[in-house]
Order: sequence, then structure tokens, then C-alpha cells
Amino acid sequence: MSKVVLVTGGSRGIGAAACRLAARDGWDVAVNYGREKEAAQAVAAQVQAAGRRAVVLQGDVRDEETVLRLFEQTEEALGPITGLVNSAGITGRISKLMDAPAEEMRRTLDINVMGTLLCCREAVRRMARSRGGQGGSIVNLSSRAAKLGSPNEFVWYAASKGAIDSLTLGLAREAGPEGIRVNAVAPGLILTDIHAAAGDAGRVERLTAGVPLGRPGSAEESAEPIAWLLSDAASYISGTVIDAGAGR
Ligand code: NAP
Repeated sequence: MSKVVLVTGGSRGIGAAACRLAARDGWDVAVNYGREKEAAQAVAAQVQAAGRRAVVLQGDVRDEETVLRLFEQTEEALGPITGLVNSAGITGRISKLMDAPAEEMRRTLDINVMGTLLCCREAVRRMARSRGGQGGSIVNLSSRAAKLGSPNEFVWYAASKGAIDSLTLGLAREAGPEGIRVNAVAPGLILTDIHAAAGDAGRVERLTAGVPLGRPGSAEESAEPIAWLLSDAASYISGTVIDAGAGR
């Protein structure tokens, strides 16, 4: 089986770490980004330094035509796709639901849920054995927020990650006969830019006391279970969500 993976939101944070670990594990990597071209190019350089091929692809995962193009460009550059990591995601700005602008919530759900659904659909079309594909592995980014609910911060974000858990299970059952495994990783409190983008750069520090291991995690610590789920070592794992929150 070829080892070609598309990582959405591969320019920064957990997605960037997933690109690096995928390259370590022998995958050629399509690094998708939204706005941070230079960051995506730096990640691609790290993939190449690990001896693997890389392509950098701009594209907003909310847009159907764009998603179709991302998969076309991935296969043109690297060959048939057998891996997908859906890491592109946002929280929206922290507030109580009663103060949240509809547009902020809609944007979060569009990127986190529609973006993941569109990418999953296109991946399954191309990986499905009944359509000439080789099968493959899809890893979605859930969050511990799906179970914690994120009160007073972003309940719409938590809801979007609950949707990830549901679609991961449903698609695993639907696509299993096509040779496709579908799983998710639910990170806890991870040191990336997402907290500052939510409007609270001190969020990680504020919440660290609630983490049983007593510290936030690194992007790499979230990417390790992603890399494992992508790999053949997880060949009998599908439809599961791995909690990666250090007990939180
Ligand atoms: P991050 O550091 O803020 O990075 C977000 C990434 O998503 C960037 O590469 C960004 O690309 C990309 N992105 C955003 N909107 C996009 C769009 N419309 N189309 C394509 N790409 C887009 O976030 P992170 O912390 O690594 O989070 C990655 C995933 O893990 C998210 O799904 C998040 O919900 C989940 N997660 C994170 C944590 C945490 O504590 N950090 C915890 C649980 C779950 P550009 O920068 O190029 O625009």
C-alpha cells in the first residue's frame, strides 16, 4: 500500500506535529494550510529532511470545490492517498453562549464539522476498494471538550467535537467494508496557538491545575496517537476515540 497522507491544518500546532511524525513513519505528506504559507513551507521542509516527499497546499476546508482540489493536487503530486488527518480547526472567541455571535459559531461548525465531513467524503471516495482504491486510515481531531462541554468558554466548539465523535463512529461502520479505518484523537490541554486565537493566551496556565498529570501537553504528544492510528500497528482499530488529555 502506498503511504500518502493529507493533513488538513498541517501548518501549525497538532497538524504540523502530525506531519512530522507521519514523515518519521515513512509517509509522504500533503501539508494543507489556511493562511500561514511560510509555516506550512517550514513543515514541508521538515518532512523532506526526514527523507519523505511533501507538497504544500493552500485551501479552506469549508469549501467543497477547494476540498476536491486538495485531494486532486495531493494525488497528482504524491500518488494515491491512503491517509487523512483532519486537524484544521478553530474554537471561536471565548464567551458564554448567551453572548456568542451567530457568525462565530457558524464559522466554527463549518470548519470543524463540514470541513471534516467534506474531507472524509472525498477520502472515502478515493480509498474505497469498491472504487479501485487501496483502503486507508482516517484520523479526525476530536477534543476532550466533547465530553467536558466547555461551559463559559465555547459550548459550540464542544458541540462540534461531539459531532466529530459521532461521525467517526458512523463512518467507521460505513467504510470498514471498503478497507478504511476511521478513528479520532481527543487531545486535552495542548500548547498551541489555538488558545491565543480564542482570545485568552493565558488559558493553558489557567487550566493546568485541572490536569491530573499537572502540565499541559505538547503538539507531539497529541500527534503520537494520530501516527499510531495511521499506522498498520493499529490495523484492527476502527470507530474509536482515543482520549489524549492526561486524565482530564
Ligand atoms: P492551531 O495551532 O490553532 O492550528 C490550527 C490549524 O488549522 C492551522 O494549521 C490553520 O492553518 C488550520 N486551519 C484553520 N482554519 C482552517 C481552514 N478553514 N481551512 C484549512 N485550515 C485551517 O490549532 P491546534 O491546537 O493545533 O488544533 C488542531 C486540532 O486539534 C483542532 O481541530 C483542534 O480543535 C484540536 N484540539 C486542540 C486542542 C488544544 O488544546 N490545542 C485540544 C483538543 C483538540 P493556518 O494557520 O495556515 O491558517
